[in-house]
Amino acid sequence: MNALETEIRTRIEAEGPLSIAEYMTLCLTHPSEGYYTNRHPIGGRNDGDFITAPEVSQMFGELIGVWCMEVWRALGSPKPFNLVELGPGRGTLIRDLLRAGKAIPEFINAAKIHLMEISPTLQKQQAELLAEHINPPNWFSEIAHLPDGPSIIIANEFLDALPFHQWVKFNDNWHERAVGLENDKLSFTLRPNKLPHHELPPGHAAQKNGTVFETAPAREAQISTIAEKLKLQTGAALFIDYGHFRSDFGDTFQAIKSHKFTNPLHSPGKADLTNHVDFEPLMMSAKAAGCVLPPPATQGKFLLQLGLLERAGVLGSDQSKEAQVELHQAVERLAGNQQMGELFKTMAFSSHAINWPSLK
Ligand code: SAH
Repeated sequence: MNALETEIRTRIEAEGPLSIAEYMTLCLTHPSEGYYTNRHPIGGRNDGDFITAPEVSQMFGELIGVWCMEVWRALGSPKPFNLVELGPGRGTLIRDLLRAGKAIPEFINAAKIHLMEISPTLQKQQAELLAEHINPPNWFSEIAHLPDGPSIIIANEFLDALPFHQWVKFNDNWHERAVGLENDKLSFTLRPNKLPHHELPPGHAAQKNGTVFETAPAREAQISTIAEKLKLQTGAALFIDYGHFRSDFGDTFQAIKSHKFTNPLHSPGKADLTNHVDFEPLMMSAKAAGCVLPPPATQGKFLLQLGLLERAGVLGSDQSKEAQVELHQAVERLAGNQQMGELFKTMAFSSHAINWPSLK
């Protein structure tokens, strides 16, 4: 049994079952034993646990760069401004973005880069990858610490790393699902606390016993804080993650290790724990803070509107057949309906109405 599991068991014995959110927070961000604290999570087939869009192709970061440049212009080309990434992983997205950004020197010169990263292991990788652009990078740990001024904030697969709760229907009540101990093993159980009916989507009364509903107040709080900051200081934000635009029922808790699904209760701290992001309450949080949202778009539609095919064409010209096939596969992976294009969604918002790049 690993040290984190021992600690989790001790807590359950002392305090009773842990909510999924408490369990996830310990597993991912425990100061010495957490998943993000220790591991190299992101990599290709032969290393890491999962692969993300910026690691699939440089085109992803470049096109996010195009989005940032157009949004910067739409905001009135503020100088200086904070260019912020939340959860930058290996730093690949921001590196590709900065390279693309050189097309507009004014944009690059005005950008003050800030990275919000909890993992010392990943901070080290980011410092290495970004050495030629920023040395050393400015890291910060919470939005409140971001310097004042206009900001453009981007985040890919960051929201899904923040904790969520699960609720299970039993007759007319939705009880919190939790992690307890049964026969000396970590196992799912229920806690007596209930989710108030007004927090459930329509149709909850017709759901069968055992149906799961997921909430993520930590994600809503993060979006509210960002939206309020932007409203005060001006700017825009872009979040990309897998999930859905409308709240819905279903258990989407997943654990991934070495590119395979595994049991979330096995070897705590050794697998990535996530669920599908429910964007509906997050869009509502941004609106409630007074921010303006463009129509939501899937990742596929978003990247195609920003010029994914044209970029692939430019990169592929004068290249070998193999390189062209690789580019074609990357386009398919990033934007294809059966791949990331449909499952991954984008959510943007700005402090005031602007001309959104993806609406052209
Ligand atoms: N955006 C990257 C990495 C996604 S993985 C990519 O697309 O490849 C999630 C990232 O969020 C990691 O860098 C992880 O360390 C970071 N992270 C997770 N929880 C965090 C938190 N509470 N605060 C700051 N960063 C966090």
